[in-house]
Amino acid sequence: MTIPVGSPVLEVQEMKKYFPVTRGLLRRKIADVKAVDGVSFVIKRGETLGLVGESGCGKTTIGRCLQLLYPITSGKVFFEGEDITELPRHKVKSVKRRISTIFQDPYGSLNPRMNAAQIVGEPLKVHGLVSSKAELEEKVEELFLITGLDPGMTDRYPHEFSGGQRQRIAIARALAGDPSLIICDEPISALDVSIQAQIINLLQELQETKRTLTYLFISHDLLAVQHISKRVAVMYLGQIVEIADSSELYTNTLHPYSQALLSAVPVPDPKMDRKRKRIILEGDVPSPLNPPTGCRFHPRCPLAKEECSQVQPRLRSVSNGHGVACHLV
Ligand code: SF4
Repeated sequence: MTIPVGSPVLEVQEMKKYFPVTRGLLRRKIADVKAVDGVSFVIKRGETLGLVGESGCGKTTIGRCLQLLYPITSGKVFFEGEDITELPRHKVKSVKRRISTIFQDPYGSLNPRMNAAQIVGEPLKVHGLVSSKAELEEKVEELFLITGLDPGMTDRYPHEFSGGQRQRIAIARALAGDPSLIICDEPISALDVSIQAQIINLLQELQETKRTLTYLFISHDLLAVQHISKRVAVMYLGQIVEIADSSELYTNTLHPYSQALLSAVPVPDPKMDRKRKRIILEGDVPSPLNPPTGCRFHPRCPLAKEECSQVQPRLRSVSNGHGVACHLV
């Protein structure tokens, strides 16, 4: 099914992913780790949705569920109009081709025993997208060129490339199956700062060239997310607490947690930076094994009221496309 640019390519409805905690020889379930707890969002074809939050907030788990690596506990996921929540086995391969991933650690995600041509060419072979060796070589060369790699280096092994080049190989491999959605899971956090901008720019250029390319960009780096995303969702302890267009979220931040996260982001002008008020959050993120009642952020929220510890705020729309889960907004 071909989804036009601007129409939803992915719809996640009330997704929950709980990991059971078991005890004893019989592995009796005693609790659940609520890694993702009722998350809904839409990504339109050709756009980038940024998913931000501290480590352990559930953003990577969402990525893994969408890659069909974990079955979800409840909720629905529609991809290109098809319910992929409980896919029959014969359809899994096709969906895995159309949803590809770029991982955080380009070295760990590339097989050290395969050369770059084999790594990039693997999805082409697995999904039967080439019919001859010559066509395979031609497509691999093309993928090298569009990701800024030297096609003369296709016979080299991962350890012979720099970190940035390895991430380019990972991007070339992610593009090989002609995906509709690419999950970028912390794709720059293992790279040197000088290389990070190059990888972000490459992802943007690829999207500008191929307007149907859609990204879910998972990161704890708010500046990178602001740079690349059209819309941004902020997660806290397994839930989305705020979602809006990138420019709206960064200029009209409404949720106290998003405000705290953004107050820690440096601004380029040192004068402005000195004037800004930093919001320092007390305490650590609570365990998803036993999340706080009411608003999950209430034990750390500087604005918390009595109601906040008892009643869970729903994510509701406050203006066009801007959703916030807070009693005070
Ligand atoms: Fe803070 Fe209450 Fe809003 Fe939660 S609902 S973010 S505790 S003010």
